[in-house]
Amino acid sequence: MSKVLIVTGGGRGIGAAIALAAARDGYAVAVNYARDAHAAGEVVQTIRAAGGQAVAIQADVGEPADVARLFADTERALGPVTALVNNAGITGRITRFMEADHAMIADVFRINVLGLMECCRAALASFQRHGIAGVIVNISSTAAASGSAGDYVHYAASKAAVEAFTLGLGREVAPQGIRVLCVAPGMTETEIHERGGDGGRLQRAAPSIPMRRVAQPEEIAAPVVWLLSPAASYMTATTVTVGGGK
Ligand code: NAP
Repeated sequence: MSKVLIVTGGGRGIGAAIALAAARDGYAVAVNYARDAHAAGEVVQTIRAAGGQAVAIQADVGEPADVARLFADTERALGPVTALVNNAGITGRITRFMEADHAMIADVFRINVLGLMECCRAALASFQRHGIAGVIVNISSTAAASGSAGDYVHYAASKAAVEAFTLGLGREVAPQGIRVLCVAPGMTETEIHERGGDGGRLQRAAPSIPMRRVAQPEEIAAPVVWLLSPAASYMTATTVTVGGGK
């Protein structure tokens, strides 16, 4: 059976690097995006130009109907899904907790937690339908362990939920041969910080990281693709930190 991967939020940043690395590893890739069709299209073109298979599919992971359509369209275009990377995520505004309003926090949890859970549900239903021992990698953050005081404790809390969910779901479906893993990246050079309203964070944070630098998206993508592979066949229900020593 051919390897078919959905990467949520695969058009930019860490997700784009994962889509490209997985394609190099032989996956046909569904590059999901929310708004930036151009960026997702460029990832698809790069994969196709190298002889790979890819499609761009718009879907808001926070909308269950969109998630159902994402999985149906992927299967129609590429075949049954064998792997999922839940990468789509937002920080909301980078600010102290008392300045973070309810609507913004609800959006962070809708996308980072409920959306991720809905994608897992769709993936498990699809694996079961086709008798596939699939694999899921969720993207958390080192914020889950640090708590990110003063920056975005709401976001850190959403990522802690992702890690607890990975642990429980991984153990629940392990007897079916399905693996569920999590990668917690440290500070990585993408647009997420600028979008949260604090583009200078990366430069400020670097001296406090043991390796004295932030990550490039490709340095997060490589361990994610390795976890998807049979090389990690005895790993499930755990989080791997990729944080330069953090
Ligand atoms: P990014 O550059 O801002 O990219 C985010 C991606 O998620 C985009 O492709 C975006 O789609 C997509 N997305 C956002 N909301 C979505 C939704 N509702 N439905 C579907 N897709 C959606 O972010 P990044 O830094 O690469 O972050 C990727 C993941 O890594 C996130 O889960 C983030 O929390 C985590 N992470 C990042 C860092 C870091 O320092 N960068 C550190 C730790 C963890 P559009 O292109 O259509 O907008």
